[in-house]
Amino acid sequence: MGVEPAIVRVTISLIVPATIMVYGAAFFVAWYFDRKQGYLRLMGLACLVFAAGACAQILSIPRDIGLNALFSCAFYTAATLLVAESMMRRYKQSYPMLYHVVVGCAIMLSIAYFFYIERSLTTRVYIQNFGYGLILLITAFRLFPYRKRSWPDAALFWVLFLFAASFFPRTILTFGGDAPVGAAAFGNSVFWQFLQLWMAISGSVLAVTVLVIAMYDVMKELRVSSDIDGLTNILNRKAFETRAERMLSDKLLQPISLIIVDIDHFKKVNDTYGHRGGDAALREVAAVLRHHSRKDDLVGRLGGEEFAVLAPRCSLHEAFEQAERLRQAIAAKSLPEISPRLQVTASFGIATLRPGETWLDIYDEADQRLYEAKRGGRNRVIASPEDDGVEHVTGVQA
Ligand code: GH3
Ligand code: MG
Ligand code: MG
Repeated sequence: MGVEPAIVRVTISLIVPATIMVYGAAFFVAWYFDRKQGYLRLMGLACLVFAAGACAQILSIPRDIGLNALFSCAFYTAATLLVAESMMRRYKQSYPMLYHVVVGCAIMLSIAYFFYIERSLTTRVYIQNFGYGLILLITAFRLFPYRKRSWPDAALFWVLFLFAASFFPRTILTFGGDAPVGAAAFGNSVFWQFLQLWMAISGSVLAVTVLVIAMYDVMKELRVSSDIDGLTNILNRKAFETRAERMLSDKLLQPISLIIVDIDHFKKVNDTYGHRGGDAALREVAAVLRHHSRKDDLVGRLGGEEFAVLAPRCSLHEAFEQAERLRQAIAAKSLPEISPRLQVTASFGIATLRPGETWLDIYDEADQRLYEAKRGGRNRVIASPEDDGVEHVTGVQA
């Protein structure tokens, strides 16, 4: 019993939309787990819409050739515009709705024109393929500046660019211009068969690239959020210590100084203004530390109302001056939204790394200075004696 060759051809053709549909499902699942990445949902939608268009074309739904051409063209155009929009959304950009409507209508109208008014399959094939190539190429160029941000951005740019650019030589090389006559001839043409193969391969490369990048984005976000203190938005103790140990072992970063900061009479702040007032003060102090630190400084919350700044390429004297600026900035801040009378001060202990010392050594030393600053009346900075024996002390008498 023989199988109709047409049935075999149709079945094989359905592999492409089926594959793309599986990718679509993967995009929806990825989006389900990270709703913030809305672009994944658009990508999933693009896959489903593309698959629907391909099925309509392969299964001749609707049967009328003109309607079928328009029907599948509508799906393919929508899918391409969705891919373009999705890629833009990953970079917090977007095309105006009007752009999608105008481009979509222009393609649909010209396909209708070259079917019903001036019948030309060649022109239709060129309009669709060059049109889609152009939509994606424009998007790739819009994303051009982001490719230097990280390797996933570079990968995404190049994959999108090559995918978009390949629409042009593929169409020219495989279609040639000898328009095949009739649906069966079109289905047997080199153009159509190569298009199937090419969609399966390049579509997979694009889809897998985007999925890998989505995974990278999620993992990066997890890593960042596990390093950040939720209240103050600066590094938590674990992340601070890990990075501090790495910085302290780097000879190129020396001299390197540690400033530790503890808010004065913080229990009283909590007692007087409530936990909400205390939390606001913690956020304010963290903001001052970040604002008055250099780009390479490590700023973290070691716990409770204790903070730290690790300053690379910073001598004891420079750290002392930096801490003095921090002290004054904290004392000058007020929190009128909590209470016009709410003002906090902080005490500072400083140490500079000596040869052979570790994180624990420098931390202990800075902590001792902090204790002295507290005992000496608070709202002051005390730095370890320098090797020449000069000790830095400042403060406002309480
Ligand atoms: P000193 O000047 O000697 O540093 O006095 P202090 O009151 O600041 O010192 P102590 O370390 O005894 O008190 C710290 C207080 O910080 C106790 C705790 O209730 C409060 N605290 C710790 N973490 C938080 C927080 O996340 N939010 C708020 N609002 N308070 C916190
Ligand atoms: Mg305190
Ligand atoms: Mg404390």
